[in-house]
Amino acid sequence: MTAEHSAATYGEVVERDVVIVGGGPAGLSAAARLASAGLAVTILDEQPELGGQYYRRPAPAVARQWGDHRPEGGRLIAQVRAAGAECRTGHLVWGVEDDGRTLLASDDAEHPVRLRARYLVLATGAFERVFPFPGWQLPGVTTPGFAQHLAASDHTTVGDRVVLAGSGPFLLPVACSLIELGVSVAGIAEAGRPYRPSLRALGTLGHPARLRELASYAARLARARVPIWQETVVLRADGRDRVSSVTLAAAARPARPVRTVEVDALCVGYGFRPQTDLARMLGCQVRVDVASGDAVPVTGAAGRASRADVYVVGEAAGIGGVHAAKARGLAAAHDILTREGRSAVPVSEARRMMSARRRLARFTALTDSLYPGPAALLATLAPALPADTVVCRCEAVRAEEIRTTAAGSADGDLNATKAWTRAGMGPCQGRECGFAVAGLVRSVMPGRGVGDGESRVEIFPSRLPVRPVPLATLLELAGPESQKGDA
Ligand SMILES: Cc1cc2nc3c(=O)[nH]c(=O)nc-3n(C[C@H](O)[C@H](O)[C@H](O)COP(=O)(O)OP(=O)(O)OC[C@H]3O[C@@H](n4cnc5c(N)ncnc54)[C@H](O)[C@@H]3O)c2cc1C
Repeated sequence: MTAEHSAATYGEVVERDVVIVGGGPAGLSAAARLASAGLAVTILDEQPELGGQYYRRPAPAVARQWGDHRPEGGRLIAQVRAAGAECRTGHLVWGVEDDGRTLLASDDAEHPVRLRARYLVLATGAFERVFPFPGWQLPGVTTPGFAQHLAASDHTTVGDRVVLAGSGPFLLPVACSLIELGVSVAGIAEAGRPYRPSLRALGTLGHPARLRELASYAARLARARVPIWQETVVLRADGRDRVSSVTLAAAARPARPVRTVEVDALCVGYGFRPQTDLARMLGCQVRVDVASGDAVPVTGAAGRASRADVYVVGEAAGIGGVHAAKARGLAAAHDILTREGRSAVPVSEARRMMSARRRLARFTALTDSLYPGPAALLATLAPALPADTVVCRCEAVRAEEIRTTAAGSADGDLNATKAWTRAGMGPCQGRECGFAVAGLVRSVMPGRGVGDGESRVEIFPSRLPVRPVPLATLLELAGPESQKGDA
């Protein structure tokens, strides 16, 4: 195990038993267990603090005044440090070297770092699924995750009067967090119809802890008299310098307005998509998840990917919430320890963990089945998107250009559409627009139109660098020879 500056390759070179990318609940759980068993572990996160989305640390001033909203996250981070894991924050892993096993990263001063390990654990989490609409670029229009992040870490609100829209259970806790901060939540527009008595919904009774959580959100929203408009989608947002109103439509007729609500902030999101770019770059196989329609890495029960030295854990392996993320991180750690001959997990604990994970997976499947799947969402949203709506914000590509290109020169191929239009080629690498571009491409292809029962949502291929990296970092990585032309 070494960390050195090598003369043959430029930049810092780190060699460990295990490198974990992502310091959220999944990565931290794995790191704590592996480091306490004596393995040399490095955990990296691009953020300035460990914690990920759920255990995001409050700003110091917020913590002093309001306390820590999730102290268990602070305890887990302390456990990881105490176990001796090397924690590198501000480190972005942006690619994989040609050898297919060395991770390329940049440190908090943007110097290059190469990382090699006998085991790589990818715990890169998820990102929000967004879909554009006219006015989505206005200040004050954001995502539920961002609103939650502001509320949790800064005790700041996105606005005073807010509509939440999109789909999925996440809209409920975000609405509650905003209400706690004194925000007037004018309503929740849910694209599906999950909140109704149904035989499927009865299945949630078998999960009392999760049901209590849902009930507490429902009670909070009822006390604040927040209306939930089901089967309702955003038609457009209006405003001069900032969003001042949102017009909603029935999901079945997304071009026909049903109500306009005055707001100073609008948060729209359709759940989460697993962040699989590094797994795909490492050559791990992916499959289509039947419930979500998203591509997820093929993994065994313990998160082992199609490459035996790579584990994909937490929401990078499939959306399932914080408890499932932690359980997946622990399962990967136990598998690695077993392979190393260091497993100290008693059979009873292993059984208990396995049954908890099955229970969580059943609950996730159940909730997924109550909300519209991504392919169904695309069938609702893509055909109705007005032609001049900017879809790719990085490259300013409009809906019509994508439709025309997909139907003509790109012949319905997602990647060819990207090449012709540049949609998805900007700094976000299609994380923002990829879902919409996939829907627009599919909506114009005869025989492959949205709503034809195909439940797959295509994704752009993973490209180096997965996030923007300063040119100086790349030059430093390549060594002095590469900089001679500058003299
Ligand atoms: C925006 C957002 C807000 C959310 N808010 C809530 C909430 O309020 N309540 C709730 O119950 N659930 C919330 N969730 C879901 C919740 O975050 C997850 O269930 C849980 O955090 C998953 O844990 P994880 O460890 O898999 O991923 P995460 O917690 O997302 O952690 C992944 C970590 O990997 C890091 N990372 C990713 N790629 C790289 C890279 N290339 N290089 C270096 N670091 C990298 C990220 O910075 C992040 O810290 C939210 C999710 C998102 C995306």
